[in-house]
Amino acid sequence: MALNIFNTLSRKKEEFIPLKRNFAQIYVCGLTVYDFMHIGHARTYLFWDVLRRYLDFKGYDVLVVINNTDIEDKIIARSNELKIDFRLLADFYTEAFYSDLKTLGALPYCITCNATDYIPEMIETIELILKNGFGYEIDGDVFYSVEKFSDYGKLSGFSVDELVAGARVEVNERKRHPADFTLWKSAKPGEPSWDSPWGKGRPGWHIECSTMAYHFFGGTYDIKGGGIDNLFPHHENEIAQTFAAYGIPLAKYFMHPEHLLVDGAKMSKSLGNFITVRELLKDWKPAEVRLYFLQTHYRTQMNFTKEGMNASREALERISHFRSVVLNALKGEKEIGLDIKSLSLLKNDAPIMNLLRKTKESFISAMDDDFNTPRALATLFDFISESYKIGIDGSQDSEELRYAFNEFDRLMSILGLESDLLLTKATFNWENDFSKLVDILLKHRAEARMRRDFKTADLIREMLNQAGLVLEDTASGTRWIIREESR
Ligand code: AMP
Ligand code: ZN
Repeated sequence: MALNIFNTLSRKKEEFIPLKRNFAQIYVCGLTVYDFMHIGHARTYLFWDVLRRYLDFKGYDVLVVINNTDIEDKIIARSNELKIDFRLLADFYTEAFYSDLKTLGALPYCITCNATDYIPEMIETIELILKNGFGYEIDGDVFYSVEKFSDYGKLSGFSVDELVAGARVEVNERKRHPADFTLWKSAKPGEPSWDSPWGKGRPGWHIECSTMAYHFFGGTYDIKGGGIDNLFPHHENEIAQTFAAYGIPLAKYFMHPEHLLVDGAKMSKSLGNFITVRELLKDWKPAEVRLYFLQTHYRTQMNFTKEGMNASREALERISHFRSVVLNALKGEKEIGLDIKSLSLLKNDAPIMNLLRKTKESFISAMDDDFNTPRALATLFDFISESYKIGIDGSQDSEELRYAFNEFDRLMSILGLESDLLLTKATFNWENDFSKLVDILLKHRAEARMRRDFKTADLIREMLNQAGLVLEDTASGTRWIIREESR
């Protein structure tokens, strides 16, 4: 059966045919690392995790790249506020992001890359854009000239004129056209900066993804992913840059998961509806979080509710109960020897084998239909209720049940609901993860206190508190411990 993906570029479902046979090349836009990941991020990145697991199940070799936006206005603003180096701030939150993803049971990315490690490559891309006549420089700033690219607006469906009328573009008198965007930003005093042919400065946000993707894939790749807010301007601008520099399309398929809202609104600190993954995991298990998100299709907006999480908890309990009933019937021995001989001895017409075949077919057809996880999940719950009807509890210690149960587990793990995650409560492994960074932050805090800069000292305390640490100021210095409920 063929996998169909909704491609934002064509606005329809298309069969997934990778550019290289059996090889799926994916680039997902990463986090701007200036704070802990929130539950909206979790929804998007857990979806990428399922996408990647399913492609793997379909037999593709999957190469998935993610970037860390480690230089950006928000990072500079936060590091100024805390009076710590931007590098330290970015490293701290990058570590926290991958640690949280791991806690949520996501597979590690094949390649992760920091934008600031590829500045020479970005400069090269900008030079190519200029050489090919798609950009211009004014006093140390470099801009992309959108009028030079006739396909500009094809992804978002906006025309250049509409963009200007709708005030969707940044106003800057020095730009030749209001919709032109920044490729290189000249440095303001005191900002982190790098040398370039246009003077000291830093790359614009969009250029990092065009450049790093080209660096790793060497050409057009299969899937470009980013939340719906990345569609415009980020991905539109990436397409324009990659064409201008290398003369090629950026990617074949564009995927844009919809956002998670809280209390029906976009999450923001000022609205008080901002929930980090770390906070969420104090009350809920990672598997409950995953199951919750899976129940809504990725292209449908979702509103986070406690009732929804409660329902997810109950659903997970149903799964766990089913697993223990079956394991009991199998006397705890789950694994079947998957050699040809033992497989050939299975009775294909046994009721549980018929049920398994039906389940797998429906599961695959749901996932093939643009990753319809709510339908896929429903097939697994049907499997559970139908198995009870067949009478799995009690006497049936059969090889067929053993086989069907293994296959059920395999389908569960495509959704990231691996058996060892089901019962796990979140733990944060601070000792291994980033205690060195915590120590550096504490040193900054001590220095701030010495100079009676209590605002900075409090901000650092708050940042570590949110991370699940409690600071204890003693006569011999500050100690930190992991807050009990974060363990
Ligand atoms: P950011 O660093 O916040 O710009 O976002 C990193 C990724 O998370 C991007 O792909 C965003 O589209 C996505 N994202 C941001 N907020 C949400 C949200 N509330 N729900 C789902 N995805 C989000
Ligand atoms: Zn990006």
